Amino acid sequence: MSCVVQKFGGTSVATLERINHVAEIVAKNKQNKNIVAVVSAMAGVTNKFIEYAHSLNGYEGNPEYDFIISSGEMVTAGLLSVALNNMGIKARSYAGWQVPINTSSNYGSADIESIGIQNIISDLNNGIVPIICGFQGIDKKNRITTLGRGGSDLTAVAIADAIKAEICDIYSDVDGVYTVDPNLYFKAKRLDKVYYNEMLEMAALGAKVLQEQSVAYALKKQIKIRVASSFVENGGTIISNEIPTRKFCGIAITHNLVQLKVFYNNESLDIDSLLRKHFIRIDIIKVVPYKISFFLDRKKLNIVKEILLKIDNVINIKQEMIHRHCSRLSLIGFDLKQKDFEYVLSLMSSNNIEIFCCSKGKYGINLVLLTEFLFKAIDILHRNCGL
Ligand code: ASP
Ligand code: MG
Repeated sequence: MSCVVQKFGGTSVATLERINHVAEIVAKNKQNKNIVAVVSAMAGVTNKFIEYAHSLNGYEGNPEYDFIISSGEMVTAGLLSVALNNMGIKARSYAGWQVPINTSSNYGSADIESIGIQNIISDLNNGIVPIICGFQGIDKKNRITTLGRGGSDLTAVAIADAIKAEICDIYSDVDGVYTVDPNLYFKAKRLDKVYYNEMLEMAALGAKVLQEQSVAYALKKQIKIRVASSFVENGGTIISNEIPTRKFCGIAITHNLVQLKVFYNNESLDIDSLLRKHFIRIDIIKVVPYKISFFLDRKKLNIVKEILLKIDNVINIKQEMIHRHCSRLSLIGFDLKQKDFEYVLSLMSSNNIEIFCCSKGKYGINLVLLTEFLFKAIDILHRNCGL
């Protein structure tokens, strides 16, 4: 029988009523498929635990911090198991270490190194639904680790890879990936299919549907993901390696921008690649010998400074304020060419939208413009770029 991993995010398991509803979804899907469930903590719980830890000076990097903040997932896994048992479906809960999900010792944002699948397989063979705590693992020092915020997505994708599941369903309160945040633009459309690299771009730019690391993992291991809602039933969005027939897929907006100029003394220092390893995406990059300037989401400023200051070859970092009335619009699409870039720029100029800075990558075009023109730009792009 084919096997599917189904992950339920915090809002999908926020109350006992929601957990019972999730149990119904699992029960229904179990009729013709083997199901492995992965769960997040109930909405708000992890934030609460982080607050507790911080108020006693427990921070990321300390294994006790991981121990504290990983505990919300245990409650959900146990409750879902009980709810399924109540419906006459055999289920059992697993903490990360019981699976086991083996990780590095990078507390607070550990990497998955390997997954033991014997327990899961034997449960499936016995008609039992394994319910796995997302977000947590165990390191070689026998300490509990966590995989970074939103890490249950990564757990689900990694389990799907380990057991060769046919698809990894990620359930949340949104019913898929949209061309733009529907709260910004009511004509936003739900996408049926998104290519891995496009989704990676969106996740990096702050689309909250999927954790960025999980998309990178799915791309690397070619795991098909379906983003769906546990609240309404419809097809959702499939993220896969299927080459899209359309050019553009969506728009991401960043309101709070900073520009950093970094001066260094080693020509071969590649700051872009280095930051990408930390899942930090920079753009509108200008490099001249011994200096790079780039744009960055202000939320990432402190972490980027922290990373850069640890590099011996970095001499100085200068921060430039971006006009507070400016935003960055990133138009995401597949295999974007110079002519696509030029087309987008011509659309902006023919509609009298001034672009202050811009850049093009293979999967994204970035434009910095006055925030007051954002809505107009989003509308023009929807009407002219097949969104
Ligand atoms: N509960 C964790 C968090 O809030 C992990 C997750 O929900 O994916 O970040
Ligand atoms: Mg999430």
